[in-house]
Amino acid sequence: MDQIRLSNASFEGDNNVYLLDDGPETVLIDSGDWMTETREQLAAALDKQGVSFGDIDRIFLTHWHGDHVGQAHHIQDVSGAEVYIHEADAPLIEGDETAWEEMGETQRRLFDHWGMPDQEQQVLEDIFASVPYQDNPVDITPIQDGETFTVNDRTIRAVHAPGHAAGLSLYETTIDGHDDAFTGDALLPQYTPNVGGADVRVERPLESYLETLQHIATADYDHAWPGHRDVIADPSARAEYIIHHHEERAWRVLDALSQLGPSTTWEVSATLFGELEHIHILHGPGESYAHLTHLEREGLVVCEGDQYRLADGVETELEQREEEYWPLR
Ligand SMILES: [Zn+2]
Ligand SMILES: [Zn+2]
Repeated sequence: MDQIRLSNASFEGDNNVYLLDDGPETVLIDSGDWMTETREQLAAALDKQGVSFGDIDRIFLTHWHGDHVGQAHHIQDVSGAEVYIHEADAPLIEGDETAWEEMGETQRRLFDHWGMPDQEQQVLEDIFASVPYQDNPVDITPIQDGETFTVNDRTIRAVHAPGHAAGLSLYETTIDGHDDAFTGDALLPQYTPNVGGADVRVERPLESYLETLQHIATADYDHAWPGHRDVIADPSARAEYIIHHHEERAWRVLDALSQLGPSTTWEVSATLFGELEHIHILHGPGESYAHLTHLEREGLVVCEGDQYRLADGVETELEQREEEYWPLR
């Protein structure tokens, strides 16, 4: 297995594409972003392994985000590769107009509910319009949780891992005798993957993501090969760390409401993250919203119109807590 690093200036840092060509079949996990420079980098890196785009038989995509699916259209065009993605993400990558319209509507409805000012909404609209998803449709073979594939002598098992994206899949397989998984953006070594903003279609984003992290923590993979940056040597510990990070964030959300009184998602986000730019305008309030709605379901927060406040008695509980985290499991 070869890890190919591709540059990515705008999102979570360098993207990874993984090449499996230890047999007659040539397979990629993810494909980098859309940029022409990325295509050239990928072609050059594959060439070093004696592989051209025309040799690629299958591509397993971890989720629908542009920095992972970007070159799939082009490669499929050249090689006729079979391309897989979870069925929840398939319509977006196939360029299904209704799926995009529905997501656009959900975004606008949520941005209004969050209290996002018009100017910031416009910044996001411009970013969304700049990503050429619908110009690069991919012929997809949709997959489901638990599906297995035989590639050369190995088995690849897809595990549905929603949270960061509705259709995120982990791909479990054996690498050099180890039980490993390709984790896309479900588990990253440096950043904690965004929930709530990165895919507004996810119902109960924080809860879904915590379940995904719990799966990774108990699966006890030897390594996780993430969508960005370096291999994760102890995936269970990293998953536990991110769960705890969300427990600290939940405490901060409750503390923000305690200081602010009834507030919009946008106001809570500003307290947590300060002023935001570019795509973070989406991620900050998205993350806050994921927490607020989770805490609301737990009975700790009450939503009235577009405002959230602490439920009765939570203020006292918060004052009595000695540590600055709120247990989420
Ligand atoms: Zn992503
Ligand atoms: Zn990513």
